[in-house]
Amino acid sequence: MWPVCVACGKYGTNLCEECARGVRFATRRVAVCSGVRREAKPLSSGSVGCGGLYYTLFGMYVYSEPLKTLLLRLKYRRDTFLVRTLSWYIYFYLSKDPFLFLLKSINHAFPTIIAIIPPRKESLKKRGFIPNELLLRPVNWENLGFFFYKHIFYPLSDIKPQHTLNAISRAFNLKRAFVLKREFITTILELKSLNISGINLILFDDVVSTGATFYWAFKKLYDLCNYVRIKCNFVGMAFLDNSGGV
Ligand SMILES: [Zn+2]
Repeated sequence: MWPVCVACGKYGTNLCEECARGVRFATRRVAVCSGVRREAKPLSSGSVGCGGLYYTLFGMYVYSEPLKTLLLRLKYRRDTFLVRTLSWYIYFYLSKDPFLFLLKSINHAFPTIIAIIPPRKESLKKRGFIPNELLLRPVNWENLGFFFYKHIFYPLSDIKPQHTLNAISRAFNLKRAFVLKREFITTILELKSLNISGINLILFDDVVSTGATFYWAFKKLYDLCNYVRIKCNFVGMAFLDNSGGV
């Protein structure tokens, strides 16, 4: 089947050149505390009122057309052939943005692990695939100096879909949802035993709106890092949804 542009229907590619011009970089880097998005702060400043948890969130692109349609069709219509187009944008962002420079200049001595925000158990059962994982898979992470760990958390059980809740409910819906995989805990303990003093942990999610999901995921990792006494730098990556929620 010859591909068709998802945005305008023109034959040729999954996203034609003209429609691709609608893809916009998210210009703001945002820092998040207690699940509510705030303006970016420099990486060196710690957050007050987060129990020491600090992470930087890269809203890579604005979650709007045409990327929105691509992502929704992947998630709800199982159009997995769109993965390549979406992954290309992720790779393009990483190769263009100051993101790499930032990570490498600040935490050059630490290994960097990239993983995904896990799916809800029900979504996984319904879809049979994990969109976040599919999106990251085609990217050559090794080439970028990252270790793609994929699953550091178990699928989330007994929680409501975040987009169905208001900002306050979102902030607490996931409080106890993230459970770290035993293998990952072992990996961190092993790194510590190898005298590695710190790691960079990058989590990817398809869309971020209030940042609550990232907050609770990083909180879990933050507690582990404190327990193991290893220095962890947290970075989140997602498409930035400005349409509401905050
Ligand atoms: Zn088009």
